[in-house]
Amino acid sequence: MNRFSFERAETIAGAVGAIAKNDRARFIAGGTNLLDLMKENVSRPAHLVDITRLPLGKIEENEDGGLRIGALVTNADTAYDERVQRRYPLLSKAILAGASAQLRNMATTGGNLLQRTRCYYFYDTATPCNKREPGTGCGAIDGFNRIHAILGTSDKCIATHPSDMCVALAALGAAVRVTGPDGERTLPFSGFHRLPGDTPEIDTNLRPDELITAVDLPAKGFATHYTYLKIRDRQSYAFALVSVAAALDLDGGHIREARLALGGVAHMPWRDTGAEAMLSGKPATVENFRSVAEAIVRDAKGFGHNTFKIELAKRAVVRALEQATGMEQPS
Ligand SMILES: Cc1cc2nc3c(=O)[nH]c(=O)nc-3n(C[C@H](O)[C@H](O)[C@H](O)COP(=O)(O)OP(=O)(O)OC[C@H]3O[C@@H](n4cnc5c(N)ncnc54)[C@H](O)[C@@H]3O)c2cc1C
Ligand code: SF4
Repeated sequence: MNRFSFERAETIAGAVGAIAKNDRARFIAGGTNLLDLMKENVSRPAHLVDITRLPLGKIEENEDGGLRIGALVTNADTAYDERVQRRYPLLSKAILAGASAQLRNMATTGGNLLQRTRCYYFYDTATPCNKREPGTGCGAIDGFNRIHAILGTSDKCIATHPSDMCVALAALGAAVRVTGPDGERTLPFSGFHRLPGDTPEIDTNLRPDELITAVDLPAKGFATHYTYLKIRDRQSYAFALVSVAAALDLDGGHIREARLALGGVAHMPWRDTGAEAMLSGKPATVENFRSVAEAIVRDAKGFGHNTFKIELAKRAVVRALEQATGMEQPS
């Protein structure tokens, strides 16, 4: 049995102080990922700091015209918030494509960003895994890797980040507000998650003693031409094999600005600003969408069981852009 102690934080300073005191302490929010990891013996915190009473449960207007989503707002409350639905429908659609209604009622903004990979070997403590136990090897590279990454992989890890919400946040260009013993800082969403490199055990650039307090959405929400396309084995309650968040600012048939991010293909939500730039100023045609899709997967690498994802990602990008422009009905 893995023994652990528990405390409930009443203030943000108290929560940060409690984590800073013990390097085996972890925050717990909705618990929908951490408790599973503890039950499987993948995560063995010595101390849990419950943050659910902290005043981080509101969605508020920001001075720059955007919205601030508190770290403890549940995924359900974000998805159904009237302002989010009206101004950031891409985010709402991505959240509702994930998990189940019950899970979304418990899962929080902060926890969603920090949920860990769904790699089977990561969860199976009888197999090697550099993310779970650095230096032991990677069971997936030569194993069954159907759900694994095709972009940004390393010879240490080919896991994917499983979140749907984060793919939309990447496309929207959100920012993550955090607080720690040295005070507050804000990380651009593109700088929050990491590629595996030689340290796959480190998923993000959040320091171990920092608390996520909110996610800021910029004023521009791309509320007219957008889609979140999620390709998965079942139509509900399944993680993405490939997903695409596409958002366009259109001027008639021309693209003024494009945003594109993919899920299920990399260790982090995969926003491709080079591909976005290729679309800017161009006519919204299937031919242009195909060129961009080719460019996105130019450096993709398959590992056998997951090689189909390269073609799937290309087709998903084209289809998502067709949906965002209105050429095809959103699925
Ligand atoms: C069966 C199942 C299916 C799912 N399907 C999907 C899916 O299709 N798409 C999808 O996107 N997600 C899916 N999820 C994942 C779900 O969205 C996450 O489990 C959830 O978002 C995690 O949030 P939580 O509040 O429960 O986090 P917790 O489990 O409480 O915490 C997760 C991690 O975040 C840390 N943490 C939490 N809050 C903070 C904070 N404010 N600051 C710093 N650290 C923090 C914890 O220490 C822990 O390490 C699924 C989950 C399950 C169990
Ligand atoms: S892909 Fe990453 S998480 Fe999966 S077994 Fe390899 S090292 Fe572990």
